[in-house]
Amino acid sequence: MKRILILGGGAGGVVVASRLSKMLKDNAGITLIDKNRYHEFRPSYLWVAMGTKKPDDVRRELTLLERKGINFLNGSVKSIDVADRKVGVEVGGGGGIKMLDYDYLVVALGAELRPEMLKGMEHAYHTWELDDALRFKDALAGFKGGRVVVGVASMPYRCPPAPFELALMLRYLSEQRGVDDRTEISIFHPAWSAPMEPFGPFMQKAFSNFLEQYRIRFHGNWKVDHIDGERKRIVAEDGDALEYDLAVVIPPHVPSRAVAESDLADKTGYMSVSRKSLRNARYDDVFGLGDIIAPTLGIGMAGVFAHFEGDYIATQIADELSGAYMAMNYNRSGICVMDIGYAGAAVFCDFSKVLAGEARYPECWMLGGMKAFRGIKMAFERMWFAELFGK
Ligand SMILES: Cc1cc2nc3c(=O)[nH]c(=O)nc-3n(C[C@H](O)[C@H](O)[C@H](O)COP(=O)(O)OP(=O)(O)OC[C@H]3O[C@@H](n4cnc5c(N)ncnc54)[C@H](O)[C@@H]3O)c2cc1C
Repeated sequence: MKRILILGGGAGGVVVASRLSKMLKDNAGITLIDKNRYHEFRPSYLWVAMGTKKPDDVRRELTLLERKGINFLNGSVKSIDVADRKVGVEVGGGGGIKMLDYDYLVVALGAELRPEMLKGMEHAYHTWELDDALRFKDALAGFKGGRVVVGVASMPYRCPPAPFELALMLRYLSEQRGVDDRTEISIFHPAWSAPMEPFGPFMQKAFSNFLEQYRIRFHGNWKVDHIDGERKRIVAEDGDALEYDLAVVIPPHVPSRAVAESDLADKTGYMSVSRKSLRNARYDDVFGLGDIIAPTLGIGMAGVFAHFEGDYIATQIADELSGAYMAMNYNRSGICVMDIGYAGAAVFCDFSKVLAGEARYPECWMLGGMKAFRGIKMAFERMWFAELFGK
């Protein structure tokens, strides 16, 4: 029986595991490894910070996958030796390493946050991990208006539109609390001169309109150097500074260390894959998906990409193992539903031409203005858990 090892139980890993268990039934041994006991639905961290959801609403125990015949190993991946087809996993935290062999390896380890890379980051809040979302919620409890600065420390980061969604939610919160007249909100971004710049003129305009409508100022190509907690200033590399009462900064992201130190990494440390097959060029029994390959593909980090890439990888493995298996093609679209309190918006972008090197921008459409989008977003979260975890 072929052994399939899936590293990471985030958006990409659970999709591959779940699809393969369905496609191959008992004809393969599927093991998924994660250092976290839970799968977390990261888009809902924003609702955790806003108090709409509790941690257990936005996560599920990974052991639930065992009902589908998937083995779950709770451990930390320390080494990936693709030449010898071996993965070293630390289980139980005692330092002992378990070596696992595989026939197929699927790498979905995502990116890691490195707040310590930005001096003064301890003075800022964010919602990019669950614990941080909870800490932010506590800070918001005492928020009585003032200068709010939302910003991105460095590229790349999970979910390019999410800082905008967060800023818009904060505007809504300030109105709901009656402190809107004393709340100024601004956003800084290190790499874009206009909001959503890499998504093309249509999206730039749509997001600029949103920011204008809700009085949010945008500082483009603004590169943070450090946060001065004593003087409550966020200081840029060129000496410019933004004064704050509440600082929200998305910390630097780096590739998972196990990948960066393996033969799978490109020069940035993220995983190198073929844009067409999502296999590593040197080791074609190794697939990558999600945030760990996003910089190499040249697209943003998004769960929706991880999801569609997962469908496609599972199809390829099932096709190879069972002779023929017609299932999913590679869907190169991104869909993002935003809840911004007042209303919502749904963005759809097709990245096919970008990934083929034929276009600079994806083709995008946007539907906006209806509160119903919050309901759609909530329904998607429910569907995600029900389909993948049965509850
Ligand atoms: C606030 C916020 C809002 C977002 N909103 C959206 C949205 O609306 N739409 C959208 O498409 N995307 C959104 N995203 C982005 C989306 O969540 C990520 O792009 C997606 O989770 C990436 O999936 P992944 O499987 O590649 O990585 P992840 O989901 O990050 O999973 C990686 C997994 O690997 C595990 N892991 C890492 N290192 C190790 C190791 N050494 N050993 C063992 N396990 C390890 C981690 O514990 C984790 O479970 C949002 C993200 C955030 C933070």
